[in-house]
Amino acid sequence: MSVEPETFRSLVKAAAEQVIASAAELTALDQAIGDGDHGINMKRGFEAVLGKLDTIGTQPVDEALKTIGKTLVMTVGGASGPLYGTFFMAAGDALSQKRSLPEDMMEVFARAVDAVSARGRSQAGEKTMLDVLFPVLETLKAEAGRPDLLKRVRATASEAVARTVPMQATKGRAAFLGARSVGHADPGARSSCILLHAVCDTLEARQ
Ligand code: ADP
Ligand code: MG
Repeated sequence: MSVEPETFRSLVKAAAEQVIASAAELTALDQAIGDGDHGINMKRGFEAVLGKLDTIGTQPVDEALKTIGKTLVMTVGGASGPLYGTFFMAAGDALSQKRSLPEDMMEVFARAVDAVSARGRSQAGEKTMLDVLFPVLETLKAEAGRPDLLKRVRATASEAVARTVPMQATKGRAAFLGARSVGHADPGARSSCILLHAVCDTLEARQ
């Protein structure tokens, strides 16, 4: 594993702070097609992650990912808590199995996305966080090694959120709205985008 715990700590801190700062936006999105708690849920979870930053910053990155996952499962709640928790725990598990970062980034990300898909029994096109995670995985696969990979990931994530607007939800609370879920961005897609942007911005600033 070649990512230093200190580098990882700065990524986690930036991602958590961005999600916390975006709580009102996420809540507004969830008010439109859900129950209006996504911002509060994510804020609570990532505040708990920030509270463990000193532990996270000293653990090997695979263990740190598992710590984040368990913390999110315990604190976020809603549908998104177990799903984001699964994402980070699966990434940690994948990294524990003789993989290293950044070289095996795509494989680790793939394992995490597949775990979310299995846990949520959902696929791309159902108006969820997976509608950002799958396209970003495709970009990582298709554009690995390109000097502007971080820019491409950022653009993919933003475009993917926009593409959730015309989708009709078939999973999660928004599915109860049927056709009325059309016309709004998915809150979980947006929170995934915010997390990914924070990671890309922080990595870019360190380059
Ligand atoms: P809840 O819907 O229980 O109130 P949140 O509001 O925190 O939980 O999270 C809602 C988000 O969770 C949705 O916008 C969607 O992106 C995601 N989500 C819900 N169900 C699923 C699922 N089965 N698979 C993937 N993501 C899902
Ligand atoms: Mg909700």
